[in-house]
Amino acid sequence: MNIPFLDLKSINASFHGALEEATARVVRSGQYILGDEVASFEHEFAAYCGTSHAVGVSNGLDALHMILRALDIGPGDEVIVPANTFIATWLAVSFCGAKPVPVDAEPHGFNMDLQAVEAAITPRTRALMVVHLYGLPVDVSALQALADRHHLPIIEDAAQAHGATCHGVRAGALGRAAAFSFYPGKNLGALGDGGGVTTNDPPLAERIRLLRNYGSEVKYEHREAGFNARLDEMQAAILRVKLARLDEDNQARQRIADRYLQGMTGLNLVLPTIPAGHTSAWHLFVVRSAARERLREALAQQGVATGIHYPVPPHLQPAYAAMGLPEGQFPRTEAIHREVLSLPIWPGMTDEMVDHVIHSVRVCV
Ligand SMILES: *Cc1c(COP(=O)(O)O)cnc(C)c1O
Repeated sequence: MNIPFLDLKSINASFHGALEEATARVVRSGQYILGDEVASFEHEFAAYCGTSHAVGVSNGLDALHMILRALDIGPGDEVIVPANTFIATWLAVSFCGAKPVPVDAEPHGFNMDLQAVEAAITPRTRALMVVHLYGLPVDVSALQALADRHHLPIIEDAAQAHGATCHGVRAGALGRAAAFSFYPGKNLGALGDGGGVTTNDPPLAERIRLLRNYGSEVKYEHREAGFNARLDEMQAAILRVKLARLDEDNQARQRIADRYLQGMTGLNLVLPTIPAGHTSAWHLFVVRSAARERLREALAQQGVATGIHYPVPPHLQPAYAAMGLPEGQFPRTEAIHREVLSLPIWPGMTDEMVDHVIHSVRVCV
């Protein structure tokens, strides 16, 4: 049995023509940029997240970048980021001319160590950026008092956490503003690039609307130097179809995770844990093994494709060599990158497939 790590073709085929209908509707509409589909998607996505506003943008990186711009963060400023994240989190800060200030991962788990945030705050700190890595929300409420004391906005990188909750509140509604990615492989994925910003702050939402569209609200009137960073009508129409089934798809992921957790107990393998009061979107199901490479190879022999998220942390990438952050600076993050292995988890996996993964892990570990 061959189990792909992610089968986007089968996921998108399972919408049975609804995607074709949506794209045909856009073709016939004659409206391809900032029309009714984007406006409707924005309403529907804001309602889904429980925020007053959502703004459709070009991708997740631009969403993060424009949130920082809208908060007037720039050269000379610092933004606290997790050391353990996908590099886009850091790049958004760098693109503003600001400096990403990394904080290591929590002792057990993959998200930022909230206990270590205060020590990283300096007089130049302008925002705290949290990442709900692999779909598990950071408990932003545990950071709120510290953020308030230092007058720092909390920004969510929710690119992996569509639909996840923390104490009943959805990712996207936990901080001052949140960035989502609708990259095809994300829990809510377009058929191309896409992104979104959610917020309960109307002026901030308006500023993002300007920034994504050349700094312009009225055509050829440019209030500031903005970007071309819009979500397009085609992707918005596709996302509306897929949003309607997001909860169901996340429940399917939850059932796979439950089955994995039950089937893989008692092995020499660290399984993911979900703290009380949290639900994960299960974007990824990530286990830890000291013998990761051997396990990955053995699983491949069994027909089980796996992923590594991520093999090299941002501070050890050539892109950030100029920051001079040495190996050993973020030991928990570095250990995570050596040990993590992502198992297949996608809506549409059959019980037989899930059981084959479990069986393979049990014999290979
Ligand atoms: C995917 C992702 C992004 C970037 O999203 P794009 O749409 O690819 O630009 C940012 N942060 C995290 C944590 C991601 O997983």
